[in-house]
Amino acid sequence: METVKRKLIDENGLRVDGRRPDELRPIKMKVGLLANADGSAYIEQGKSKIIVAVYGPREVHPKHIGLPDRAIIRCRYHMAPFSTTERKSPAPSRREIELSKIIREALEPVIFSEYYPRSMIDIFIEVLQSDGGTRCAGITAASLALADAGIPLKDLVAACAVGKVDGQLVVDLNDEEDKEGEADMPLAYIPAFNAASLLQMDGQLTEEEFFKALEMGKKACLKIYEMQKQALKERYLKIKESVEAGEENQEA
Ligand code: ADP
Repeated sequence: METVKRKLIDENGLRVDGRRPDELRPIKMKVGLLANADGSAYIEQGKSKIIVAVYGPREVHPKHIGLPDRAIIRCRYHMAPFSTTERKSPAPSRREIELSKIIREALEPVIFSEYYPRSMIDIFIEVLQSDGGTRCAGITAASLALADAGIPLKDLVAACAVGKVDGQLVVDLNDEEDKEGEADMPLAYIPAFNAASLLQMDGQLTEEEFFKALEMGKKACLKIYEMQKQALKERYLKIKESVEAGEENQEA
């Protein structure tokens, strides 16, 4: 028996979750929520939920793997067994190994790693709940966690996927759109350089669609970038308030 594929864009031009083609999912970001990491951040993008912890810069062990001119940056992207609809095996998969590498490469250009020779920076990305777009949301949150760790950055990295569903270009695909759509193009964007540090493509786009998708992706990343800056401001306002409250307590 043939199954009928669900339409991903309705007669009003809206997507499965009611969004317009250029509309992001609801996004929440929080910076500095883990007491035991040097820096941390949490992001909710639609139903995807991700937490990132950063350690470092700290001394390299064993010492001989240290680099004389810059810090080593390591990254682990990991999906919790309970993050997917079918329990995911806790063992690292090929996909997780690949994503760990490309996420590290997306973040490296903004880190002043030359300030920290013979040291290392560790980035742990834990996907708690997955509904598509986790590599991008992981990058967005990881750059916040790096900033929270006090690591000097040239800029933040904002990431978002653009794709094609039912022949239409759409931003920030959810899992259904990612799986059922015709194309998925994750993009990580560095505003200060007007450059992409990650650009992947699953599926097919025409040349014209590709350039339009790139433009839509850039706009979506810039919206995310504003939210990142807001999340960092909130973190520093809280620190300022607690310092001021502490000073008042001392005076009392
Ligand atoms: P992204 O999360 O960046 O879109 P993919 O396109 O590779 O990455 O994956 C899309 C979605 O597929 C994931 O967000 C997740 O919901 C699902 N998925 C990926 N790997 C697994 C897995 N091992 N088991 C179940 N679902 C998975």
